Amino acid sequence: MVVLAAVLGLAQNEGQAAAETPSAEVPALTVIVVVDQLTAERTREWAHKPSSSGFRRLWRNGLVYANVAYDHATTATAPGHATIATGVLPAVHGVISNFWFDRDDGRFASSVRDSRHSLLGDDGGGVSPFRLAAPPLADLLHAAAQGRGKIFAVSIKDRGAVFLAGKHGKAFWYSNNTGNFVTSTYYYPNGDVPEWLAAYNARARKGVPESWELLLPEGDYRHEDERVWERPPEGWTREFPHRFSTQGTSLHFDQLRHAPQGDAITAGLAMAIIEEESLGEDHHPDLLSISLSATDMIGHAFGHNSREAEDNLHRLDGLLAEIMAALEDRLGRERFLLVLTSDHGMSPIPETVPGADPQTSRIFASALTRELNRALRSGFGVEQDLVLRTVAPWVYLNFEAIAQADLGVDPVADKAAEWFEARPEISRAIPVSQLDSCESAELCQLIRNTVYPGRSGEIHLVPAENSFFSIEPPIYSASHGSPYLRDRGVPMIFYGFGLQQTVVARSVTPRHIAPTLADAMGLEPLPHWEAPLRELAAARQGEETR
Ligand SMILES: [Zn+2]
Repeated sequence: MVVLAAVLGLAQNEGQAAAETPSAEVPALTVIVVVDQLTAERTREWAHKPSSSGFRRLWRNGLVYANVAYDHATTATAPGHATIATGVLPAVHGVISNFWFDRDDGRFASSVRDSRHSLLGDDGGGVSPFRLAAPPLADLLHAAAQGRGKIFAVSIKDRGAVFLAGKHGKAFWYSNNTGNFVTSTYYYPNGDVPEWLAAYNARARKGVPESWELLLPEGDYRHEDERVWERPPEGWTREFPHRFSTQGTSLHFDQLRHAPQGDAITAGLAMAIIEEESLGEDHHPDLLSISLSATDMIGHAFGHNSREAEDNLHRLDGLLAEIMAALEDRLGRERFLLVLTSDHGMSPIPETVPGADPQTSRIFASALTRELNRALRSGFGVEQDLVLRTVAPWVYLNFEAIAQADLGVDPVADKAAEWFEARPEISRAIPVSQLDSCESAELCQLIRNTVYPGRSGEIHLVPAENSFFSIEPPIYSASHGSPYLRDRGVPMIFYGFGLQQTVVARSVTPRHIAPTLADAMGLEPLPHWEAPLRELAAARQGEETR
């Protein structure tokens, strides 16, 4: 399978022979690969499969951290990517979730939407990293190289690219409306998008096959194909093959995001950028981030124990091998440093868990809030709603109504929390005011790590073990987002840059990635960072000779 070559329409390596390239002091190109929703457990399992190529290669030749978990409670795409990008907690970088209620402007806020800008290649409001309150690694590189370090980030999702590109890099993501990779006027104020983008988009469209078929013979799959709880995207059934709708329709674009081919075109764009922008070729270090979303989209639709998820991992395994091979061909193994990680883990489809109650598996925040408001109105004998809204996992109280009724915020928060905790679908409801005197010390620390005044609410909800906060309408079969370890545990493997296989058992967090990459790139650390992972220097081949 040579997906990238097919997408790119390029001959394989023409360039620099690896062996002739001397070991570098700093990587010429640093590559951050984020596989959205890839759990630590899955990575380990695949690294030990005999047929495995990409995962196995990473595991066998890389610096592997075997115990990695986020230490924040809201395990979602935006906070995960922002944490990788900045090396700090959501309580510091401010990206507490994908969406939240913004107290300052009294509106629902998206982590990346910025109405001061517009999209290039798509309609609608623009996107920027303006909500990122801490400097990302990308900005440090930009400052140190005085703008000469090239910085790019690509993803299917806008929030998968925006934080990693930082304030000075360029971000591209896939548009569901146009089927093209697009960007924002934030990155190109004059609209002068590079010419290679349109050419790549045309090539990528041509490379999409008619359907997503099984890669291997049917008997090679462990997981069943058709399971009643799967919720495929519109136009698809629960069974292979999944035929793509007519090219050029929004149905086609949406299906593509739910298929491994979505990752192939994302990685293809990254490889095109390496070529077109000559990444890693001058003596200023460059940074490229590739966020692959198919695993997440497929996991939500079909569950992570589905045949679709299994086939996706086979294909991802091959794609990772191709990315590594392309980098090695172009730069040589010594001259790039790659890290593979994820933005969050994943929970199973609740209904597949023995003993789970299907009645309480999906939590609909708006219905729950209406019920809560009714209970609070009668409990406090007031007419107004005391809760503004719930944007999971946060409950936002109506300060105005509470003041008018002459009630304190704390008693209302306590009463609301009590009401939530009596519900079977909610495990814990913890008012922020109680975080410091909380009995569940670890849980409360995870929640505290995602409190950002003005963005987080007054009560943090933790779903019950087999429940999740559902988007509305309920198109997901399964989700993540909780503080449970299965949603926080992710892989972290460094590869290239002369690293030799090292497996590290001590516990670390994805907050270690930015300081470790910065250290390898010779950048000054930020004062609030963790120390760089000491094993990276030790795992470098031939270190003693330098
Ligand atoms: Zn997700």
